[in-house]
Amino acid sequence: AKSSGRNEAVFFDEEMHRSSLARMEMQTLLPRAIERGELRVHYQPLVDIDTGEAKGFEALVRWEQPGVGLVSPDDFIPLAEESGQIVAVGEWVLGTALADAQYWRSTVPGAADLRIAINLSARQLQHPGLVDMVAAALASSGMDPAAVELEITETVLMDDVKNSLDTLTRLRRLGVGVAIDDFGTGYSSLSYLRQLPVTTLKIDGTFIDGLGGAADEHARPIVEAIISLARALGLSVIAEGVETTQQLTVLRKLDARLGQGYHWARPMPYEDVAPWLRAQGR
Ligand code: C2E
Ligand code: CA
Ligand code: CA
Ligand code: CA
Repeated sequence: AKSSGRNEAVFFDEEMHRSSLARMEMQTLLPRAIERGELRVHYQPLVDIDTGEAKGFEALVRWEQPGVGLVSPDDFIPLAEESGQIVAVGEWVLGTALADAQYWRSTVPGAADLRIAINLSARQLQHPGLVDMVAAALASSGMDPAAVELEITETVLMDDVKNSLDTLTRLRRLGVGVAIDDFGTGYSSLSYLRQLPVTTLKIDGTFIDGLGGAADEHARPIVEAIISLARALGLSVIAEGVETTQQLTVLRKLDARLGQGYHWARPMPYEDVAPWLRAQGR
């Protein structure tokens, strides 16, 4: 289990995680979790590496299960993905995150340009109603599509390139951006990468982890290569999982512009975002 700070999710112990009883129980409880308002969205800042200023947030779902506490997405998103419940969960997250972001943009001084990033799963990408659902969420929130980025993992995108190309093209027509999440951990073909209408590469935290430390000579060339690849393709780059000053120093040397990680802030509950932005000097 990971460290459990104030805003960190509580992790089930291994035994419970594996037991099919717990899995069945979660799949039974999840649909009611939305109705009962037990899902939460936490927000983690996306930061300008040079200035430390927040440029936006990534929306990260949690489940506040009565008697259990905050359940991590790693413990229920894969189950929701198996059962198809992820489609309803994802729709709720998107609606909530766009409304929250629009609210901060219109009420917090200096936050009018804040961006919002939302994760999409494999099932959502395959779902025929996805593009209409995104269009409806944009319309009802009033959020500027150009300030919205949908994150899809490299593995999911490359799994069915034909469907990805079609769906991404239609999403981009709505005006939203698309980021490739966990970039570097999958097996992108460079020619597909060039064809897909993506806007951002998010460098996986495992590569950032190695920067500045004992593994630097292995990690740095990869991070450097991803940054120059993005530049050549005209894409933005976000370095994920930045935890230390050493990592930040290397990223500055490599001329990376945007970062995300515990070094700046952990994902925080909705109520903390406006005060956090104000404390940043907005
Ligand atoms: P992800 O999209 O790669 O999100 C980044 C994860 O890294 C988050 O974990 C975040 O809290 C964590 N993180 C951020 N900074 C640091 C750091 O400096 N060090 C370390 N060690 N970790 C850091 P989280 O919130 O537990 O989410 C885990 C995964 O669950 C996400 O990985 C994403 O794949 C999935 N997920 C979360 N919310 C949603 C959602 O609304 N929909 C879908 N489909 N998946 C989601
Ligand atoms: Ca993500
Ligand atoms: Ca990621
Ligand atoms: Ca990940």
